[in-house]
Amino acid sequence: MQPNWIKQRAYLTPNRVALSYGDQEWTFNELYLQSVQLAYKLNTLHLTNGKRVAILAPSTPDLVELLYACMQAQCEVVLLNGRLAKKELAYQIEDAEVDAILVANEDLAKLPEDTRIITFSKLYQTSESEYNISAHWDEDFALTIMYTSGTTGFPKGVCQTVSNHSSSAISSALNIGISEKDTWLCTVPIFHISGFSILVRSLLYGMKIRLYEKFDAKKCAQEIIKGTVTKMSVVAVMLENILSEMERIGQKAHPVFSTMLAGGGPVPIGYLQRAEKLNLRVAQTYGMTETASQTATLANEDAMTHIGSAGKPLFFNDIKIDAKDGERVGEILIRGPHVTPKYIGQFKHKPTTIDGWLHTGDVGYLDEEGYLYVVDRRSDLIISGGENIYPAEIENVLLAHPNVKEAGVCGMDHDIWGQVPVAFIVLKENISEQNIIDFCERNLASYKVPKEVHFVANLPRSGSNKLLRRNLLRLLDDL
Ligand code: ATP
Ligand code: MG
Repeated sequence: MQPNWIKQRAYLTPNRVALSYGDQEWTFNELYLQSVQLAYKLNTLHLTNGKRVAILAPSTPDLVELLYACMQAQCEVVLLNGRLAKKELAYQIEDAEVDAILVANEDLAKLPEDTRIITFSKLYQTSESEYNISAHWDEDFALTIMYTSGTTGFPKGVCQTVSNHSSSAISSALNIGISEKDTWLCTVPIFHISGFSILVRSLLYGMKIRLYEKFDAKKCAQEIIKGTVTKMSVVAVMLENILSEMERIGQKAHPVFSTMLAGGGPVPIGYLQRAEKLNLRVAQTYGMTETASQTATLANEDAMTHIGSAGKPLFFNDIKIDAKDGERVGEILIRGPHVTPKYIGQFKHKPTTIDGWLHTGDVGYLDEEGYLYVVDRRSDLIISGGENIYPAEIENVLLAHPNVKEAGVCGMDHDIWGQVPVAFIVLKENISEQNIIDFCERNLASYKVPKEVHFVANLPRSGSNKLLRRNLLRLLDDL
């Protein structure tokens, strides 16, 4: 059993600011009272006690309040990604077999027609019927269901339980620390674990969230420079935009700003060096939907001595590498209280762990001191003339070229070598293919040098903006 987090937090620190958005603020007690009212409305709609509810809404205080209401009403919430296409949303709604779909009015047009849809305005107009809100939560209750990004195939619906989320928040605090003065800047989407985990931390730590509906590099840079926030979650591209803005205006991070948590994928080394000059402490982290946020995180003080590492596992977590005899690199396996117990929908029979270990599909290695290095996705491995080639290594070299904005590498069938790497590049400024190849030859073993280089306008990306290497070769049809 755990306490009802929202009720407990409102009891412990009712008057602390929980949420700030624009020039508005809400205390924990205010959020608690509003979410109780909304839970009573959900009760009128029979959406309580284990009912499964999908939510599609932008990251605003309305969404926070509704999520807290659903948690108090003990609904399983399926968080939908507003950047997905209608067909993709339809798939997730069907796959999750939801009882209702709650949608912010402005997002209604994104959804396929469905009799289960309830708009926020309809929800707000619903009368309230009192409901006995439990003071305790079952640890195994699926607070949220989130779909993976679908980078390697169909998105999988992942159950994230009360204890998955709470252990993740506690591990994070044990690692990067918490202070009463903390304010976490949230500009990552709440429907994603990177955003939702900030809500969990807020409730467990009694911490204020500074929320933005959308990421805005200029505003974020100002908050960091003025010290109105102390922590922030980013992916690499957001970090780059903030660095550029701070460099442009020539200002450094305020000393109270303690941690920039950078996840979702590798952070280029050049960004870390730039961040250091701006007194911006970046903690790189490795996590996935199945692990309710971070599994390993690299402390800032280790960043320069362990460049490219995602750090050590957090306190309660274990990592091991499933490598063939004599090899260092292998599949990354994870164990810990943050690992999901189950998938739902079409993957419901796929076990999430084998002998207690989650098989991530990522390959990597641990160095002598136990620092994790994530190499790439196993499914993207290119085998050329018997040699293993990881596309990420080639992409990192390409991204270091001053004229390259984005790069994607995949394998292409080849009569002699089996497969060879080919590169797809979005340029910042024009340059010849030969120049790119010469650059790769200076930085890579010859079998890793792309055999073809194609310049394209855009790379195929998922709704969470991840590179879809499995769709790269399709670009050749349009050339
Ligand atoms: P799907 O499982 O549907 O193919 P996905 O794995 O991209 O999609 P997410 O759960 O959003 O879905 O992403 C987790 C993945 O992101 C990890 O398995 C890993 O491949 C990648 N990742 C996260 N952090 C890092 C990191 N620090 N370095 C390298 N890769 C990372
Ligand atoms: Mg995955």
